[in-house]
Amino acid sequence: MAEQLNSTRFVRVVIDRSIRRELDYSVPDALAEKVVVGSRVRVPFRERTLLATVVATLAETATAGIKPIEALLGEKPVLSSSLIDLARWMASYYCCPIETVMRSLLPQVIRKAEVGWRKQLFVRQLRVAEAEEMAKLQKRAPRQAELLEAISRLTEPMPAAELLRQTSLDNTTLRALVRRGFVELREEAVARDPHATEQFIADADLTMNAEQTAALQLIGTALENPETHPPILLHGVTGSGKTEVYLQAIRDTLARGKSAIVLVPEISLTPQTVERFKSRFAAQPDLVAVLHSHLSEGERHDEWHKLHCGRARIVIGARSAVFAPLENLGLIVVDEEHETSYKQEEAPRYHARDVAVVRAKMEKCVVVLGSATPSLESYTNATRGRYLLSALTQRVDQCQMPLIRVVDLRQERRKEKAAAILSEKLRTAIEDRLTKREQTILFLNRRGFSTSLLCSHCGKARYCPNCSVALTFHRTNARLSCHLCGHSAAVPKRCPECGEDALVYAGFGTEKVEANVAAIFPNAVVRRMDADSMTRKDSYRETLHAFRSGKIDILVGTQMIAKGLHFPNVTLVGIINADLALHLPDFRAGERTFQLLTQVAGRAGRGEAPGEVFVQTYTPFSPSIQFARHHDFAGYFEQELEFRERCNFPPATHAVLITVRSEHETRASFSAETLARRLKEALPNEYNIGDPAPAPLEKLHGSYRFHILIRGEAIVRLSRLIRETLDKLPFPEDVAVAVDVDPYQLL
Ligand code: ADP
Ligand code: ZN
Repeated sequence: MAEQLNSTRFVRVVIDRSIRRELDYSVPDALAEKVVVGSRVRVPFRERTLLATVVATLAETATAGIKPIEALLGEKPVLSSSLIDLARWMASYYCCPIETVMRSLLPQVIRKAEVGWRKQLFVRQLRVAEAEEMAKLQKRAPRQAELLEAISRLTEPMPAAELLRQTSLDNTTLRALVRRGFVELREEAVARDPHATEQFIADADLTMNAEQTAALQLIGTALENPETHPPILLHGVTGSGKTEVYLQAIRDTLARGKSAIVLVPEISLTPQTVERFKSRFAAQPDLVAVLHSHLSEGERHDEWHKLHCGRARIVIGARSAVFAPLENLGLIVVDEEHETSYKQEEAPRYHARDVAVVRAKMEKCVVVLGSATPSLESYTNATRGRYLLSALTQRVDQCQMPLIRVVDLRQERRKEKAAAILSEKLRTAIEDRLTKREQTILFLNRRGFSTSLLCSHCGKARYCPNCSVALTFHRTNARLSCHLCGHSAAVPKRCPECGEDALVYAGFGTEKVEANVAAIFPNAVVRRMDADSMTRKDSYRETLHAFRSGKIDILVGTQMIAKGLHFPNVTLVGIINADLALHLPDFRAGERTFQLLTQVAGRAGRGEAPGEVFVQTYTPFSPSIQFARHHDFAGYFEQELEFRERCNFPPATHAVLITVRSEHETRASFSAETLARRLKEALPNEYNIGDPAPAPLEKLHGSYRFHILIRGEAIVRLSRLIRETLDKLPFPEDVAVAVDVDPYQLL
């Protein structure tokens, strides 16, 4: 036994299945030297074989009748031990089992064992034919001779398939050469590169202005002392050159032999963004990997492995790229850190920015959070000294901030009974741009044609049978559809409630804006960009390309067009209705409106001509609109924080939202009542437990939903107490409970 001391006898694993338990297995001697924390293994489990991840190695175990693991997959562990520590932290903070966390940590395609690199056969010459030998070959087997000559001209191994295509010779000929010992065929892995067809022209660092230099210096100091340095919040107005700062900070990180992660919201992960990173580091091919949801499985597998094996040392990706398997991590950048899409709305309900900060702390690396409109959470951390603030206050191009004009729709309505989609002021402004051959963006955060179908006789709207929202009319397919569950219905001729032929369409979405604008400006090219019009993979790329090259005069769209795009010729942005977000029953509604207005406004006037923004609203005096209008982040922050503190909402405290749902309304409400009562017994007084109440969106996907909101400070402890309480409660079969720590979705 003594000689076995250094090798692994037992392991604790998390299997790829929700059983809320970690399991111990023994390690056969043959694998004892190879199995480590983070290894993927195959284990027997209840008459079956399942895949699992090793989370700990043990010297002994108390488990009786322990079984051995069956196999080790891959030579290198898929997860580092620090990523496993991160998984444990997430499980305890976000109140969910570690196997659920593992689902996010390892992409699906990596968890499936059988997928591998795409293999190709490469041809390489082994031996040169003597002159005599060659002459003989030419006589007896001319095709072999021809192929051998072609191979001898190769400067490096070539894929066999390509060689045979080029020479128009066949596989039998090639095999004969292998038998004769002239050439060798070797299987080699080739990566599927999602950007293989694109050429990236290397570009150099720009000369930075004083503010950029200061920001980079601060990051440089942090890179010197990563153990002790707090996170850096880079507050830079749109167009202030934050990306340039990231690029040069990454260069400095690589120079120290370290790697970097750049998180970008999915919606801003455009070809344009990727190109900026790929081009800057083009001198070394494969240095930059990309991870996002539009990759094919094969591409995702290969990009992930490029990072895992260390060939790629920079990853640019959406939310889950925070788990990228990079070693020796030096820097994590979270761009647009305020973006709510960093929050995952299914378990594990983590926030990638917060996970980035924790990962950075665990791996002693620098973290930079960047935004033009920092979240209240991050800015508060900066004002309290937990983060260091660095500010870019000027646009790089010296352009003025766009002029924001607020259009009071109440007055417009008084002028023309029914308010038009475009106010007269906005219409005139568009006209002016068309004459000057400048471009316009019109923004509305609502898809479809009409937002509801109302009966003018009985007043009832057509509602989704599964959700408590009205159905939206889409003209393209002439159907009603639910934006929450996808339910779709034909348009009735008469009101199904009262039978009258009195149905009218009310409200409008992007489809109607597009139609309306096209009718007013028949000579302009109008295009729409939203989730409905962008269903094909390439349509997004195509539309952006057409817009950039000036083939589109007016682009109508949802938030898809609000983020991170540069169009120098756009001098006008119209926000069709700024009130949409403002009236949601959500304490962050004001914050979202402020962010949205600022971001959308940032699209205007990025070139030579100054930009102009028209904000149409029924609430022109709301603080979010007024502060955004004056580009006054500080003023906005102060008043918003005061509101949050007064009402005890985040960031003044932490919140946990528990949703109890069931297809049976009474079971849902009864279970919520019971749970709230038990929580009140179990939780100490420092936690404030709200009464259970129907969710604002009471019915969703056919389920009735009730909310319990808990507020307090010590989250890990709260999570544990909630988990214990839930485990003790026997809920009816059809009642589901979701726990959301630091929730963003309060509907
Ligand atoms: P942000 O990310 O803050 O919105 P970007 O980094 O995208 O800003 O910069 C906006 C534009 O200004 C980009 O086209 C970028 O290439 C350019 N730019 C950034 N820094 C400089 C600089 N120091 N000198 C010249 N151009 C710059
Ligand atoms: Zn629905």
